[in-house]
Amino acid sequence: MNRPYNFSAGPAAIPAEVLEQAAAEMLDWHGSGMGVMEMSHRGKEFISIYEQAEADLRELLAVPANFKILFMQGGGLAENAIVPLNLSHAATVDFVLTGSWSQKSFKEAGKYAAQAHVSASAEDSNFTAIPPAASWDLSRGASYVHLCTNETIHGVEFHELPDLKALGSDAPLVIDFSSHVASRPVDWSRVGLAFGGAQKNIGPAGLTIVIVREDLLGHALPACPSAFNYKTVADNQSMYNTPPTWGIYMAGLTFQWLKRQREGGLTGIAAMEQRNIAKAELLYRSIDQSQLYLNKVAPNCRSRMNIPFFLRNEALNDAFLAGAKERGLLQLKGHKSVGGMRASIYNAMPLAGVQALVDYLHAFEQQHA
Ligand SMILES: *Cc1c(COP(=O)(O)O)cnc(C)c1O
Repeated sequence: MNRPYNFSAGPAAIPAEVLEQAAAEMLDWHGSGMGVMEMSHRGKEFISIYEQAEADLRELLAVPANFKILFMQGGGLAENAIVPLNLSHAATVDFVLTGSWSQKSFKEAGKYAAQAHVSASAEDSNFTAIPPAASWDLSRGASYVHLCTNETIHGVEFHELPDLKALGSDAPLVIDFSSHVASRPVDWSRVGLAFGGAQKNIGPAGLTIVIVREDLLGHALPACPSAFNYKTVADNQSMYNTPPTWGIYMAGLTFQWLKRQREGGLTGIAAMEQRNIAKAELLYRSIDQSQLYLNKVAPNCRSRMNIPFFLRNEALNDAFLAGAKERGLLQLKGHKSVGGMRASIYNAMPLAGVQALVDYLHAFEQQHA
């Protein structure tokens, strides 16, 4: 089947092989006589799906043994409350604001922490740059420091995680990696907790992944709902309440797909990272070399996953989108708060899809020169 290329920011494209396998197993999973959505989460069939998914994610992201992997519900936005409910100790939390998602996290944390403090903000650059880490105003005794490591709307990515110790902070680093999870390796020596919704790069909406260092468990505020208490969730292997079973199954199929990927002698996440670099370079180069298109993000923090761009002649926006759709290039319209276009090129987008977009960018520019 020849499917169009889907550039949606999320929920986003899922590898066709994964969808095909899920379709084949829909009515009868491995001879059990049940579909995955119909199984008890405590039965041996689902437990085997869960254990495999957890082990594969741990292997793919090289998650150290002293971190717990939690499969939760609520999405990235719920984590904006769940993180401070678990980690804030009712003390100060520090935020580095690099776009809409970190702004949202900051506003929500203020409801639960004693104080939500802005350590740095890129708002005066319209979120086209990341303030240098040396300039961050980190609080003494903060309970954690929050970053959104890939700003899905503004197209800004941290290519390296800060070393908070070297910056004089003893606080654990919390990262929202919703929109670039599994696109590259994670340096766990610099992270206390990472969270992400699944619907950008892992599977269907409804599953949220939390990876948390064990020593951060057990400090929740009294008001924290039990189903959102990380220690309770960890102590019950993510089955304190019914987990998002379908999401875990689909994520597990995606993890198996990731493990099969090969690129230039590399496998798994390392292979994906190489492919993602090649895809992003191809698209940014084509935008930068054109007279019609423009990306405003500083080159040192351009996202490999979400690439917002503008037509210098905005009157052509509708024609651009209509022509793209005709060629099977879907969901390129930018987020309403930023305008213009956005190409989200997550793991499931092959290089051929980016090449098809680049060919279209060129043809459309020629046509309207
Ligand atoms: C999409 C997204 C979210 C929000 O996820 P929901 O599942 O809608 O709550 C949070 N953070 C980032 C970086 C995102 O891209």
